[in-house]
Amino acid sequence: MRMYVSTRGDGKELTAARAIIKGLADDKGLFVPKAIPSLKDIDLSFEGLADLPYNEVAKKTIGAFFDDFTEDEISYCVDNAYTPEKFSKSEIVPVVNLSERSSKTADDAKMRSENNPDSAIKSAYFLELYHGRTSAFKDMALSILPYLLTTSVKKEGEESKICILTATSGDTGKAALAGFSDVPGTEIIVFYPDGGVSEVQRAQMITQEGANTHVFAIKGNFDDAQTGVKKIFNDEKFADTLADKGVKLSSANSINIGRLIPQVAYYVYGYGRLIKQGAIKAGDAINVVVPTGNFGNILAAYYAHLMGIPVNKFICASNKNKVLTDFINTGVYDARRDFYLTNSPSMDILISSNLERLLYHLACDEIASDVHANEKNDARNAAGDEIKELMSELDNQKHYEVSDAIKNGLKKFYGGFATVEETNDTIGRVYEDCKYLVDTHTAVAYKVYENYLAETGDHTPTLIASTASPFKFAKSVAESIGIKGCVDDFEFVRELSKNTGVEIPTGLCDLDKKEVRHRDVIEIGDMEGAVLGSL
Ligand SMILES: *Cc1c(COP(=O)(O)O)cnc(C)c1O
Repeated sequence: MRMYVSTRGDGKELTAARAIIKGLADDKGLFVPKAIPSLKDIDLSFEGLADLPYNEVAKKTIGAFFDDFTEDEISYCVDNAYTPEKFSKSEIVPVVNLSERSSKTADDAKMRSENNPDSAIKSAYFLELYHGRTSAFKDMALSILPYLLTTSVKKEGEESKICILTATSGDTGKAALAGFSDVPGTEIIVFYPDGGVSEVQRAQMITQEGANTHVFAIKGNFDDAQTGVKKIFNDEKFADTLADKGVKLSSANSINIGRLIPQVAYYVYGYGRLIKQGAIKAGDAINVVVPTGNFGNILAAYYAHLMGIPVNKFICASNKNKVLTDFINTGVYDARRDFYLTNSPSMDILISSNLERLLYHLACDEIASDVHANEKNDARNAAGDEIKELMSELDNQKHYEVSDAIKNGLKKFYGGFATVEETNDTIGRVYEDCKYLVDTHTAVAYKVYENYLAETGDHTPTLIASTASPFKFAKSVAESIGIKGCVDDFEFVRELSKNTGVEIPTGLCDLDKKEVRHRDVIEIGDMEGAVLGSL
């Protein structure tokens, strides 16, 4: 059976089900698979892959990692997560190339491409991950996590009710609420910073239906919410109080391995689509571009690569909070810098938690390549020690530098960033050239990809992770294509649709007219009380 271990090397081995229930390892490390499965293990040839629908790819991929689940259990989870009720596109994840949508005359297009030999239109394939209920890519993982978690609870004979605690800067909270709403045996509690999320995001959360959903605005910023939630998780006395009530806390944050692994599936699927669409031949390498915050999404792409998907470069795109760009370029992670609020808020982040998993794998590989197979455990222990040291430097000094071995592994990655002005300009250009709307996060990815092309001339077909619907960040998107003067975000949503003919996603329709179900605004110190009151 495939076992899961901590990135900080405490040596304990857990089944996937146990790791999913626990969320975080006892030594505060993150769970990683002891070994990554390969496509060969699950009889997935590239040719076969090209013809499989999304759910079949997801079953094979997730089943390979979570092999303590039976085939029936995996099918139950996948087929309840990716349904026509929950995803507005039958493909689940459409893959879109813009070269045929170029709206200008042929001459115009020719001139443009002569002026700009690095045009990204031809080689870019948008992997549209945002057709779930909350219009952000978080739905890909959070629509299946409740099923993985409740199945894990059943498998492990866990009697307690599971209470999910989540601090959110906007997208995670709504996706978690939608995923866990009315799931038997669970309660879901979300804390968001009062005044710190967009109007659309707030409206999405406070109108959430479901008897087990609880939403609180806290009088503080996102860091306060996050710190408050961590404090509750680490409070043993509080855990005892909850245990008396038959309740156990768990997390829907991207540190949970049950959230990370389902994301691997769409990169495997995307590769199959590129074969199917004739962009590549089976076995050809691709590039992957990911607008990155907590490093979960791009790490999932890396896992797909370790499984056997040929990837030439992982292009890690950041906004002005470019801590990852600098890290990839120098091997020095330095969080001692100003924090900027941008119009791609899901990437406004200075501590990128899933990076820890990549560092662990890179450290392990380098050490393990020098030793015999029977010494792999030693390699893991040594890697765990190395990561523990780096993370303690991050905690205490807010910066660290990785070893030459890890720097070597980072060469698979390219780091770049885009400013708010560049982001808005990109949205405008892509719409003008191709009549295609991208949200602010996807625009950051596209701009960084254009820079990569100009720098390298590498025209390898490339998957660009499109992480949100343009309607979710309607104001920036609308203004970037010349729509002005709306009174609020809701009017921007309607005007954006009117002006472009693109349909508003169901979940974002008439949000300002829905019944408000969650009005509580609480002090930071009252978060534990809010949890108790909700149960
Ligand atoms: C969460 C999010 C991201 C960042 O994803 P990570 O996995 O944290 O790197 C990017 N774009 C959008 C729209 C998001 O909601």
